Amino acid sequence: MLLLLPTTTYRTKAFVEAALKLDVDVVAASEQPSTLLNTNPEGLLTLDFSEPARARKQAQEFAARFPVDAIIPVDEDTAVIAASIAEALNLKHNPVDAAIIAKNKHRMREVLSENGVQVPRFRHFSLDEDPGEVAARVTYPCVVKPVFLSTSRGVMRADNEEEFAAAAHRLDGIVSNPRVARRGGPLARDALVEEFIPGFEVAVEGLMTDGEFRMLGIFDKPDPLDGPFFEETIYVTPSRLSSDVQRQIIETTAAATRAMGLTGGTVHAELRVNEHGPWVIEVAARSIGGLCSRALTFNNETSLEDLIIRHALGEDVSDVQRETRASGVMMIPIPGAGVLRQVLGVDAAKAVPNVEDVIITAHITQEILAPPEGASYLGFIFSRADTPDRVEAALREAHSRLEFNIE
Ligand code: ADP
Ligand code: CA
Ligand code: CA
Repeated sequence: MLLLLPTTTYRTKAFVEAALKLDVDVVAASEQPSTLLNTNPEGLLTLDFSEPARARKQAQEFAARFPVDAIIPVDEDTAVIAASIAEALNLKHNPVDAAIIAKNKHRMREVLSENGVQVPRFRHFSLDEDPGEVAARVTYPCVVKPVFLSTSRGVMRADNEEEFAAAAHRLDGIVSNPRVARRGGPLARDALVEEFIPGFEVAVEGLMTDGEFRMLGIFDKPDPLDGPFFEETIYVTPSRLSSDVQRQIIETTAAATRAMGLTGGTVHAELRVNEHGPWVIEVAARSIGGLCSRALTFNNETSLEDLIIRHALGEDVSDVQRETRASGVMMIPIPGAGVLRQVLGVDAAKAVPNVEDVIITAHITQEILAPPEGASYLGFIFSRADTPDRVEAALREAHSRLEFNIE
């Protein structure tokens, strides 16, 4: 199994552990020679992700010597290259076109609206245009966002022309960072402005098998996400929405995957629900990010990564169901920008009933960026309980016991 590891990902350990447990041979492919699996030559591969044609050829040469049965893009940044390599190696995965659509919010909006999937009204613009002119053509409230980033980076609400101009300026600053600009390539200065959709937000995790979508879990996001920034916090599953609304969410997500042409691998979708039904915010060709996958466990303590690997290797996992308990995770909100000096209360937070773990991923002296500039996490709180309400309460109680000293 070929794992494509972006430079920044929280998920390597979970995938490698699942592979070890399943006794699957892993090839870790990354841009920098990895020290993670310094075992044997067939365990490591350095690929130049910024040059897809070259990376594809390198992977082909490697596979000619060491056969590869499955490919997994660990995060969004390697989804397109994974599709390209899968095509070259004749492995089941997404078509390259579908992966490109999923990676570009503008293309995604076009394809979904053309296919009758309910999405916000949108307008594409370039950060090189005069923001005053774009602002005059927009209806408010709106959401401004880059087309290629993730984790809500650069996503901002604007309620009037002045706020639009400020948001466009701030987005310009974010995508002008050299590393971000390199990641965006020719799309770095492309932006979207969309109508702001009020409503309740959910995330949907799913698997694609020969073009068929299967829901693995719906997470409620009980904290209001009304802007001006959209920092993710609590995810709780199972959803407390009515079964009828949940059915609509699943149908809409499935319709979106069909419209986009996604056929294999995992999908992580976000939707908003209001009196007009579900609206697709996005469908990404990846699985849930950060360390959040720990909140999804299946029967017999099967991890999400375990399920993804078996699915990628062609095993029929259709009978694997999510555990019966409620579960949730809080991505710990970032109280402010600065240098992280101290984290207090971790043991007290862990001691809250129904809290399973508290993991601080930021390190002391790390420079922390707040939204909309920020892209890394402070840490995660995990809870399991009999009901979603208890999970949510436990997450909030644990969070209230944490204190971050950011200078
Ligand atoms: P990213 O890929 O960075 O996560 P998204 O497009 O998913 O960007 O936006 C991040 C969050 O911003 C969403 O989860 C949602 O809360 C909010 N958001 C984005 N677009 C809209 C919109 N049109 N209306 C309301 N909220 C939105
Ligand atoms: Ca995204
Ligand atoms: Ca998102």
